[in-house]
Amino acid sequence: MSYERSMLQEFKMPSRDKVAEELLKTLFTHNGVVKEFGTGQGVVNEIADKFGLNAEQRKAELLTVYRKENRLKKSLLWHRLLFRAANFLANERLITRPNETIKITNKKEWMLTEEGFNKSAKLLKIPSYQKEYLPVKFFELQKYINKICLSPRPKNYNPFDDTKIKQERVVNTSIRKKGFRFSVIESYNYTCSVCGLKLNSPNNLRWEVQAAHIVPHKAKGKDDLWNGIALCSLHHWAFDVGWYTLTDKYKIQVSSKIKTVRKEYGRLDNFSFLESLREKKEVILLPENSELYPHENSIRWHRKNIFYE
Ligand SMILES: [Zn+2]
Repeated sequence: MSYERSMLQEFKMPSRDKVAEELLKTLFTHNGVVKEFGTGQGVVNEIADKFGLNAEQRKAELLTVYRKENRLKKSLLWHRLLFRAANFLANERLITRPNETIKITNKKEWMLTEEGFNKSAKLLKIPSYQKEYLPVKFFELQKYINKICLSPRPKNYNPFDDTKIKQERVVNTSIRKKGFRFSVIESYNYTCSVCGLKLNSPNNLRWEVQAAHIVPHKAKGKDDLWNGIALCSLHHWAFDVGWYTLTDKYKIQVSSKIKTVRKEYGRLDNFSFLESLREKKEVILLPENSELYPHENSIRWHRKNIFYE
């Protein structure tokens, strides 16, 4: 029996497979990423707590030969076990290794892959309708978000994706849909760009704000930041039905139909929803980086085709 194995037995440590399963679940509840175990003390203790490890088990040390300098190195048996479990998950392509993740997040972390995301959601019995909205990221999704957020702003932007309907049938659209939602709401700091509402669910798992298409999905509008804007549900609805639009300078322009609306409509207690839109004269809230502002071509299309002048 190897030295490491006999140590694991001596200290009655949990099996690698059980640790791997717990690690997968922990990744899910940590939005898809955990730090390397040497530095990520929070997670290291959290998983140890799940197994009810005692102080001895947590502190047990392994002596290994550090080959480069031919000297003995001490490492924690528990860290080693966590590493073995993570390595196993990485071999199964359920997570990515820190040296792979760093290329897309600039941080040395273990990260779920799409397959790992689905597997951990299953282990945690998360219903599939909830999976769509959770703030949990995975490698392929982060790669897509980077692509959206780092592409140079096009001058002659075409807000239509002509391949959209065709793609729908063949390609799994979940990364595209999620990638659009994540990149829009993150760029707008989880805030409605019209009223500034920022609200999370009590369990912090779901933001109220929505990623709205300017040229709608049904009109084959593209899933990128130049065709997207973050809106609360009420301002999303009002934008989609044409109560208001945006000018090229990102100011609100309201429909003249507002004058004809019955007084009792659009009231939230003493607050008049439509009246408040009319009173907005300033520029809406936009992403920090102006490269990511909605594109004029998308806005112009909305003004011409959706807005009720
Ligand atoms: Zn709003």
